[in-house]
Formats: sequence, structure tokens, C-alpha cells
Amino acid sequence: MNGNVLIIEDEETIVNVLASILIANEYIPVIAKNGAQALTMLRSFQPDVILLDLGLPDMEGLDLLKKVKETNLCPVLVVSARDKEWEKVEALDLGADDYITKPFGNSELLARIRVALRNRSENDERTVNNRAIYCCGKLRIDSERHIVWLNEERVHLTKNEQRIIELLSRNPGKVLTYDYLIKNIWGADMQDNNRILRVNMANIRRKLEENPAEPQYIITEIGVGYRLADESYF
Ligand code: CA
Repeated sequence: MNGNVLIIEDEETIVNVLASILIANEYIPVIAKNGAQALTMLRSFQPDVILLDLGLPDMEGLDLLKKVKETNLCPVLVVSARDKEWEKVEALDLGADDYITKPFGNSELLARIRVALRNRSENDERTVNNRAIYCCGKLRIDSERHIVWLNEERVHLTKNEQRIIELLSRNPGKVLTYDYLIKNIWGADMQDNNRILRVNMANIRRKLEENPAEPQYIITEIGVGYRLADESYF
């Protein structure tokens, strides 16, 4: 078995879809139909991943997320509507590990769950050997030694380009918000300046992507941020 997944969702149709995908892929779904039930369950039960619908009948999904994150270390994936970019950004700021957008496909759901589980266990390992190598397709990034290879050849990036790609590569498959990236690279003062990030990202893509207009490695999440592809995208 791959792990227990707590589904916090009130819509029965969606619960059934999620549960059957999870069972077919050797996860054990556990269901809470509202926020209160979820909080009660979490007092005695430690899931491996939580899928949290933000539209719950008894409380604000984002409030529940905050409560869960205060007491629980397990990764949380929020389930959000397609047009609610602000909600996704806010959820990520509150500590959600990622989101999936309704309606979602099986492979998207499973990829997000895999990434959440893997990042968690890799973070544990990293504290031991403190090395971070990212490998995906023809791209390889060593963020310890600050080296990027594409097709076995070294890629020369500026200092900020290097820092951006390393930040993404330490979180493979996970979306990082514009604000998070800008704050970490340029500091909080620049936080509302998305342009500087876009310019840098265009340069990185020119150096790393075969076709920068259809990026394979650096995926844009419109209105939210960027994610670096992980193996499961290939
Ligand atoms: Ca709902």
C-alpha cells in the first residue's frame, strides 16, 4: 500500500471519484464530510496525505487548512476551482503543499500525491546527507555545487537565474508562487514586482528549454507561479 489519504470533501460524487482512483492505485482513502469531522479524526489518526476541498459546508476551507497545518506535519493538497487563483495562492501561503484544480484528471491527481509524499521523504534524507541533485529528462541540477547540465553539457546561468532554478529544483513537481520566488531571490521589497521574475524566467527558459514557447521543464501555473517538472511528467 502507498499510504492513507484523508479526503475532506462534502460532495459525494467527487468523494466517490477520488476514492476509486486512490483504491485503484493502492492508496487507502479515509473520508471526512466536513471540517468538524476532519478535525476530530485528525486527533487520533495520522494520514500520509490530506486532500482538502476548500468549499466545505461548515467552515472556510482556508481556516481549516490553517488549523490542520498548526498541528499536523502531513502534506496537504487543496482542491480548488479553476478560476480561483487568489484562493490557490492564499492556500499555498498558509502552508498547503500544492493544489489540484477541478475538474482534475487521474494522472494529475496521482502526480501531485506522489510529489507530496516524495518531497516529504526526500526532505528527511536531505537533512542527513545535505545534498540536492535534481534530474529530469536531459536536465540535471546540483544545487549544492551550483552546477546545471543539459544534455551532459554545462549551462551558464547568471547568479539570480541559478538561484531561481535551484529553488525550484529543491521542490521538484511542486508549485512555487511568484511572491515566494521573488521574496527568496530579491527580498521582500521587490514582492510586487513580477516583471523582474518573468524576465529572468524567460532567460532561463531560453537556456534550458528546447522550445521556450512550450516549456518542458519549467511549467507556468497562470496566476499562481511556476513548477519544475519532475520525472512523472515525462
Ligand atoms: Ca465542496
